[in-house]
Amino acid sequence: MSGIVIIGTGLAGYTLAREFRKLDKDTPLTLVTADDGAFYSKPMLSNAFASGKDAEALISQTPEAMAGQLDARILAGRRVESIDTGARKVMLEDGEALGYDRLVLAVGAEPIRLSYEGDGADAVLSVNNRQDYARFREAIEGVERVAVIGPGLIGCEFANDLHGSGREVDVIGPDTAPLGRLVPEAAGRALQKGLEGAGIRFHLETVVDRIDRVDSRFRLKLDNGETVEAGAILSAVGLRPDTRLAEAAGLEVDRGIVVDRGLATSAEHVYALGDCAQVAGLVLPFVMPIMHAARALAKTLAGETTEVSYPPMPVVVKTPAHPVVVSPPGSGAAGEWTVEPVGDGVRALFGDGEALNGFVLTGAEAVKQKQALTKQVPGVL
Ligand SMILES: Cc1cc2nc3c(=O)[nH]c(=O)nc-3n(C[C@H](O)[C@H](O)[C@H](O)COP(=O)(O)OP(=O)(O)OC[C@H]3O[C@@H](n4cnc5c(N)ncnc54)[C@H](O)[C@@H]3O)c2cc1C
Repeated sequence: MSGIVIIGTGLAGYTLAREFRKLDKDTPLTLVTADDGAFYSKPMLSNAFASGKDAEALISQTPEAMAGQLDARILAGRRVESIDTGARKVMLEDGEALGYDRLVLAVGAEPIRLSYEGDGADAVLSVNNRQDYARFREAIEGVERVAVIGPGLIGCEFANDLHGSGREVDVIGPDTAPLGRLVPEAAGRALQKGLEGAGIRFHLETVVDRIDRVDSRFRLKLDNGETVEAGAILSAVGLRPDTRLAEAAGLEVDRGIVVDRGLATSAEHVYALGDCAQVAGLVLPFVMPIMHAARALAKTLAGETTEVSYPPMPVVVKTPAHPVVVSPPGSGAAGEWTVEPVGDGVRALFGDGEALNGFVLTGAEAVKQKQALTKQVPGVL
């Protein structure tokens, strides 16, 4: 019997395996991953520089410990090359084929990479896993000034953390304010002010034109005519669900791997969850949706067909210099933003006069209202 095969040992793959084993102790379980299979909390990647943690220190469980706990076979350092849904087989890069009864794709997302002119363009790094983190830590060794490209959620978290590690930080991006895609401008400006107050510099409404090496440093030329000097460059311009395996296997793919509320893909016996998945139209690359999806899918795989529901899931932005909580309104939600100052930040509410459909809180005083407001907003799905 082939059992269940899960591709990916990130939060999605491992959480699903844990939830499944609570319900089913017997079905053979195999997890296959291109990385080293160590369990770690990915959100720590953007708040570990200040605390001086290296990539090893982020590991909470070795793959051997996970295999024991889950009574599972873990194939680490083994990339899946293709999937044959007709023959129910997963082909590994090294030639081995794994049969499956049910297959789960938990392959995560890939950083979007922009291209730049200049001989320093190849030095731009992004951090989306422990290996990237190790590489970037090496790149900032002895470096006093770091440029962060992208003033979104992850760019701001890295900026705050790198600044906390004693470095000067410049954040660059085309938006009028940080978190441009997530929050109204006034909330983004409040975060900007908080981070600037701590010493972080912003270069907004501009993009990087070229990156040149000057001695052992880099000179970034911006399209507004400014230049920024830095010893290392971090790109945080967004993530894209990794749909490559799914697409090549003929599964339906849109912004992510298309799954219904049962986490089922368009191919029989194949499921997807986590950053790679588009669940009932939603791409939500955060921890809480993964927890809910993993619990629902574990039940389905254990024999009790279950649809996922998402309660309100506010996202906490890890910017201690000016904390932020965001509960974005659903895509078709009625209403408009009203913003009022609270302490050194703002409270922004999205509603239509009767119902509250979303909120943003910024600053230490405002974020205290998180729990009270979370009770008032509707569930996400
Ligand atoms: C810097 C950073 C900070 C974050 N902070 C927060 C936060 O504060 N709060 C929050 O809610 N969310 C946060 N997130 C998002 C959250 O971490 C992710 O949503 C979550 O970790 C994604 O888990 P995943 O298992 O779907 O993907 P991943 O962790 O990316 O795992 C993908 C797995 O698939 C494997 N894989 C991929 N392709 C193949 C292949 N072909 N063959 C074999 N294996 C393959 C990889 O090796 C890996 O094991 C953050 C993300 C980042 C990058």
